[in-house]
Amino acid sequence: MDSKLRLASVAVTGPFHRTFTYHLTPDTPPLAPGQRVLVEFGRSRTVGFFVGTPVSPPGVATKPVLKVLDDVSYFPEDLFALCLWMADYYFANPADCLTSALPPILKTRRTAQLRWADRKPDSCPSELLPLFKPGRKLTAGAVTEIRRRSRPSISDLVKAEVLEELWPVGDTAGHTAVKGYRAADPDSWPEFYRKKRFKPEPFEGLLGRDELKKRGWSDHYLRQAITAGKLEPIRSERTDRILDFVQPREGVADLRLFDEQTEVVERVSDHLGRGFKTFLLHGITGSGKTLAYCHLARKALQSDKTVLVLTPEIALSGTTLAYFRGFFGDQVTVIHSAMSQRERLESWNGVRKGRYRIVVGPRSAVFAPLENLGLIIVDEEHDGSYKQDDPAPRFHGRDSAIMRAKINRIPVLLGSASPSVESYYNARSGRYELLKLTRRPAGAVLPIVRVVDMRRQKLHGDQPYLSWPLKKEVDARLEADQQAILFLNRRGYSPQLKCGECGHVPSCPQCDVKLTYHKAGGKLSCHYCGHMSLTIDRCPKCGSSRFLYPGAGTQKVEEHIARLFKLGRVLRFDSDTASGRKNSHLLLRKFADRKYNLLLGTQMVTKGLDLPGVSLVGVLSADQGLDMPDFRASEKTFARLLQVAGRSGRGITPGDVVIQTYYPDSDVIQDAARQDYESFYEREILSREVHRFPPFRRMVKFVLSAKDEAVLSRQTAAFASGLKERAAAAGLQSDLLGPAACPHAFLRGNYRRQLFAVTRQAMKLTRLLSEWENAQPRFGLPSSVKIVVDVDPDDMI
Ligand code: ADP
Ligand code: ZN
Ligand code: ZN
Repeated sequence: MDSKLRLASVAVTGPFHRTFTYHLTPDTPPLAPGQRVLVEFGRSRTVGFFVGTPVSPPGVATKPVLKVLDDVSYFPEDLFALCLWMADYYFANPADCLTSALPPILKTRRTAQLRWADRKPDSCPSELLPLFKPGRKLTAGAVTEIRRRSRPSISDLVKAEVLEELWPVGDTAGHTAVKGYRAADPDSWPEFYRKKRFKPEPFEGLLGRDELKKRGWSDHYLRQAITAGKLEPIRSERTDRILDFVQPREGVADLRLFDEQTEVVERVSDHLGRGFKTFLLHGITGSGKTLAYCHLARKALQSDKTVLVLTPEIALSGTTLAYFRGFFGDQVTVIHSAMSQRERLESWNGVRKGRYRIVVGPRSAVFAPLENLGLIIVDEEHDGSYKQDDPAPRFHGRDSAIMRAKINRIPVLLGSASPSVESYYNARSGRYELLKLTRRPAGAVLPIVRVVDMRRQKLHGDQPYLSWPLKKEVDARLEADQQAILFLNRRGYSPQLKCGECGHVPSCPQCDVKLTYHKAGGKLSCHYCGHMSLTIDRCPKCGSSRFLYPGAGTQKVEEHIARLFKLGRVLRFDSDTASGRKNSHLLLRKFADRKYNLLLGTQMVTKGLDLPGVSLVGVLSADQGLDMPDFRASEKTFARLLQVAGRSGRGITPGDVVIQTYYPDSDVIQDAARQDYESFYEREILSREVHRFPPFRRMVKFVLSAKDEAVLSRQTAAFASGLKERAAAAGLQSDLLGPAACPHAFLRGNYRRQLFAVTRQAMKLTRLLSEWENAQPRFGLPSSVKIVVDVDPDDMI
């Protein structure tokens, strides 16, 4: 083999977790990590990422890199490192991780074309002056020539606006559409067309492109006129931008921090520029966490750094965003999947080039190409939506944010009213620094929570979703011209069998996790350990034979409730009515403007609302979360109830909360009613320790699926014993739970089974998986069986 070959490790997407070695042809310029290349893989051509030079030659003949697609790498160094860490930690394909960091438009083969700026900027390095051709596109040769001559890198030249990137999205990529062209002073025109064949009619004001075309302007002339400064393209005010829907919240920059907030800001800002550290801010709902975040972000900006702010779902990033926009104006942008491709590209480019210095967004914003990061904030850090379940990479946004902070050696602040058990445990054990906000500012007090026993206080026997105390409360508010919110069950729940008398849902004796009801065969089973119990015809607790079966549609509940309240101007707010970012925002604004007085919503979309007019919040069923077959069921229920209660009484009127439940005596419901996190935590952490769940162990979930049940059963067993053997041989300490049927044991034509590895040595486990996979593609499973590996799973369904 030719020892002088320049080798390149390239990541390509596929069902494996490694990179492949290619060689670079002699004329290939030096590559930067993350630059995309075209390679032959198997029998097809595919886009891959250059990840570096392999440590050792591969020992077999390599294929060449066919083409370099990007002139620059779109990955700041720390982001690139984060993606590779993610691949490792979450047992994901490295190319999938890198792809996640790019705007969707780049997921096909698109790439920016470079061109010289329209006018020569002062920042143009002298060595490039002879090459400068205003407005001209760069050939591959020219790019190589610049690389050879220029001191600043290509991406620095782009930032300095010596070069410009043209993105293939429509014709004005990444910008707002051009509304028209404004003419310069007519007197100055003759000079421009002296030497031209085309002598346009001078005009005043603004003309659209079509009109100009009619008057004989070609694209070529248009461009020349723009370059010469005779025509100025005027961009329309865009109306479809997410940013425009979120009005900056006024007056927030003038609010004075109160003592507790000042303390939080000081403790964290003392650490700015002083290396990696994780802070956990436990602040009750409405305690003004957002204001503290803004003040911290300001400190980071003051030392010329940038800031990343993660928030869970759509609605929440709305309120946080409004706050940050109120504080920082146009320095803030969003990165969000609900944005149009164009807007997303614009945002991403703006971040890359340093135009935006604060990025707010959900988990995918952890990939924001911010340079010079100084601080990361993760709001509502406990939220399950930070974990990506599908597709790969199945990363956790909060944990990845912590890793990004670690890579950058900067502080990261996690905030929540109900911290995740994992994070609180870390704070208690001293790994994180714990900060607290214990009061609501401006005299607002925590709401009074009342628990209603649904076994006794149902309104109608056959409609088990409204109690008379809640009905009375709502009526009273509507009469007093106040607003109320009723929370419905989350959509799409897991199949449970619930006693219609006492509300009991049977649990697994070994795992203490709720059992799942499988319609076929009428059996109850534990989907962690596979424990199977037979059909039951009587409730083991109260002996009743009346069961509630899953599937009471939320729509019906909504209609019924809407009819029950004569004074109600009802706004339904769920993933159907509020689909899309803009819609949900407009709907909520109407509610805030009091066009409606009763909001029916699923809890998912209404988190983080700050509506001072709301004086009553009702939770129709607090139990639904508790019935989930999930070891985090209590934690999630507690967090959700606390959030929901936190929506009430944010104005001057004290708020009330009514929680309807079949388990009025359960500890979780009681703690939530008292809004007592510590009490909840103390109990929960004990249970986690006893049952060996996180944070005491880490979990890796394997889900196998196939069309043929018998094949699946056999292959899952083979995989399980293969894993056990290898774990034993490698001395890996781990418990294997299962295989068991998934709660949704049959989904989209496929049977599904799962197993869990529970271990303290998760990295050792994923390394073992890699080795196994390299030796035996797809762990020896036939192609008819699919396998998904989920490290630190959140979703147990
Ligand atoms: P959290 O995120 O902790 O639930 P928010 O940040 O939404 O709480 O703050 C709750 C309310 O208190 C908001 O209306 C906010 O503007 C207000 N607020 C926060 N800090 C102050 C302060 N220092 N002075 C006056 N009002 C404040
Ligand atoms: Zn019962
Ligand atoms: Zn079990």
